[in-house]
Parts: sequence; C-alpha cells; structure tokens
Amino acid sequence: MLFQKDGIRHIIFDADDTLWENNIFYLKTTRDFIGLAEEAGYDPAEIEKLFDELELRVVREHGYGSYNYVYILDQIYATHQRIAKDKFTELIKRFKGFMTRKPDFFPLVPETIHQLSKKFDCFILTKGDQAEQEGKILRAGAEKLVRKYFVVPEKDDHTYRQLLSSHQWIPEECCMVGNSPKSDINPSLRIGMKAILIPYENNWKLDHDPLPVQDKNFLILDEFEDLIPVFCEDDSQS
Ligand SMILES: [Mg+2]
Repeated sequence: MLFQKDGIRHIIFDADDTLWENNIFYLKTTRDFIGLAEEAGYDPAEIEKLFDELELRVVREHGYGSYNYVYILDQIYATHQRIAKDKFTELIKRFKGFMTRKPDFFPLVPETIHQLSKKFDCFILTKGDQAEQEGKILRAGAEKLVRKYFVVPEKDDHTYRQLLSSHQWIPEECCMVGNSPKSDINPSLRIGMKAILIPYENNWKLDHDPLPVQDKNFLILDEFEDLIPVFCEDDSQS
C-alpha cells in the first residue's frame, strides 16, 4: 500500500453518504416527482432539465439542505399545476419524513469509529444547514462516537484551512474520510492533508469531481470497515 498513514493523528469523517445514506432519499423523491409530472402529461426530460438548472442556482444562492430542495420542487409545481396536488403533498410529506428520521449507519460504522478512536482523535465535518445536519448527527448518536462535530455551509479549501488553523492542526497529521471527491477529497489534498475516499454509488451530481491519482496521500477503500486494517493493524502483519 502506497498510502502513508504514519504521522496521522486526527481523522475527520464526512457524515452524509459516508456514515449513513442520505442522497438516495433526494434521488428517490426527484424520480417520483418526475414520475408525477409525466403522469400529468409533462415531458419528463424537460422536468429533469428544469430541476437540474434550478438546483444549481438554488445551491449557489441559498446553500444545501432539504429546505432548499423542497423549495425547488415547489417552484416547479407552481408552474406545472396539472401535477396532482394530493400526490405532490404526499411526496413532500414522505421526503420530510426521510429527513427527520434517525439515520441508519452503514454497516460497522459505529464499531469502526470506536476502534479508531482508541488511536486517533476522531471528528465529523459535514456541510449543509446547521440545524438539519446537527439533527441527523444527534438522532444517530454520532456525536458520542467523536470528540467533536462541525457543520459548515461549504467544504472547500478555505473551510479545511480554517478548521485546521483554528485547532492548530498540521495538515499532514489530518486525514479526511468521505464519499465526495469534490467536497471531501480534493480540497483536503490541495491543502496538504491526507484523504480516503469511500465511494458511494448514489452520489449527488454536484459532488462529482475528477479523482486524483492514488499516491501516498490518497487512498480508495470499498467499505467503511476497511479503515481498520489501514489504521489499526500492525504494518509488519499486513
Ligand atoms: Mg457526503
């Protein structure tokens, strides 16, 4: 393994789609919404295009989170009123239910973080709406697994630099673990941190970004639990 784990002291986990599923509920709701529009006689390709354009603009102007997502669907519904109102209302209600339930950890996430915490300082760094992200963390009980969690409006180079400098952490001693090349991996690597990608099949379109070449600072793993052999098994045995 090329990845150089020596010297790492702080491990920072992304939350959505790294510790638990999240984007799948957005994808499902968008698919269902487009289905309702099609039922009402609208062209599904046109609705999807409209959705993508609005999403890009709303995220840029207002940030992430389910509130802004529902706003997008409301906007489209307002101009496509043949969509059945009762079904639309039901769809929004179901989506809000997804967003306020207790997140289900991916397999072995709590156990893995617990194990890693014996050797490393573990943290959560998630982007989005403060109350919404915090709600998910607390409902999941994830705050008990880490020393601290941080909710930020955006995860870019500046965010990571600020997080590190406010704690006087050295970049080479910090490793980011997440599913998003754009928000978790590339900014961390650019500021000199290490990064581990755990790909998620239902990644959000706006999270796509070219992947770096694997080298001593960057590693791709299949499953969250694969962090254990990387960090907790003696080099002489691996
Ligand atoms: Mg994520």
